[in-house]
Amino acid sequence: MSETNVCDPSRIALYGDLLDFTGTPAWGAVQDPSVRYRPGHWLLIEDGRIHAVQAEPPGPEWQRHDHAGRLILPGFIDTHVHAPQLDVIASYGTELLDWLERYTFPAECRYADPGVARMGAARFLDALLAHGTTAAVVFPTVHKVSAEALFEAARERGMRLIAGKVLMDRHAPDGLRDDVTQAERDCVDLIQRFHGVERLGYAVTVRFAPTSTPEQLAMAGALCRDDATLYMQTHVAENRAEVEWVAKLFPQARSYLDVYAQVGLVHARSVMAHGIWLDDADRRLLRDTGAQIAHCPSSNLFLGSGLFDWRQAMEQGVRLSVASDVGGGTSLSIQRNLLDAYKIQALRGERLTAWTGLHAATRGAAEALSLGHEIGSFDAGCAADVCVWDWTSCAVSEARDAVARELHERVFAWMCLSDSRNLAAAYVAGMPRAR
Ligand SMILES: [Zn+2]
Repeated sequence: MSETNVCDPSRIALYGDLLDFTGTPAWGAVQDPSVRYRPGHWLLIEDGRIHAVQAEPPGPEWQRHDHAGRLILPGFIDTHVHAPQLDVIASYGTELLDWLERYTFPAECRYADPGVARMGAARFLDALLAHGTTAAVVFPTVHKVSAEALFEAARERGMRLIAGKVLMDRHAPDGLRDDVTQAERDCVDLIQRFHGVERLGYAVTVRFAPTSTPEQLAMAGALCRDDATLYMQTHVAENRAEVEWVAKLFPQARSYLDVYAQVGLVHARSVMAHGIWLDDADRRLLRDTGAQIAHCPSSNLFLGSGLFDWRQAMEQGVRLSVASDVGGGTSLSIQRNLLDAYKIQALRGERLTAWTGLHAATRGAAEALSLGHEIGSFDAGCAADVCVWDWTSCAVSEARDAVARELHERVFAWMCLSDSRNLAAAYVAGMPRAR
């Protein structure tokens, strides 16, 4: 499909139906001014960055790739996913706390081995790219080597990746616990070597409150206080049994979220996975600090964790992104997760538009990560993390697409029926990385 001329290899032009967002779509609005749809346009990429979008074909100095009749979107951003858990995706029969004991912790133990960590990181990032996800906020394991392997593999692929060695010094099996002193030393070393290097960012990574002692949580908070550019990632209020356990472990805290807030772990660069069982005071705190919830729809359904109230979080001003949470989640596909998000809202009597869903996986996630100037849209100057999608992949989706009358109907059907099989090409900073 590509037509190559004698031209500057640093200048490429992609032709297709361009869709991105200029702002946050209103809840429930199938027509919204923030939707920027430019069918049959050229996306000009120079030196790995978005140069311009135009209707007219560019000059001969541009290497042209004709994707006529295909949908072109900013690469998806998965704000919460566990690299080592690809090995336990689709594991039968448990809720969160049992699932960790039975499946997840044994799988994570293997990542103490540098060879396993390296192979796992490469396989994981290639899988993300094959699903159209070009940036991610990722949990490796407690082992320093697993974080190193992930950062190195992301660097080789030019990917925007935020990660950090997992902190856990209690309530975990042998081989998966660190201690405060060694963990701090490892974090400081990793921050020095990887944070802000090329497209990498370090996240102080607390697995969740039950697996860290108060001393370790305090150490994590101190790291964040020392450097406001660091991210922080953890889980909060995913499952009711977990919430009760946290209340017993931290009786002095007002709520689960408050355990983190008391030590300085809730801030503008915090990514809180799940946040199903929060109250109004918690959501006010998230709003006021700018911390975001990474909503994990397929995981919440698969583990029976609960039905997240997207509309309430949005109306109360909480920043929100969408995430696969593999291996609790059942697919790395952001579309599959958005379909599950739609079903969760349907069970709540609400309707999630394709606009709100796709915005949360692109521009919304980028802005929540303070990276709106870098990823998530086709604004000039952003890195060219771009995915090209087939509108259809089979007879059923073809028939559905053929009768779609207006844009939202068409994109919504695509969101529900598409997955990694629809991906025609993925570019990371202008470089082809998948297909
Ligand atoms: Zn998770």
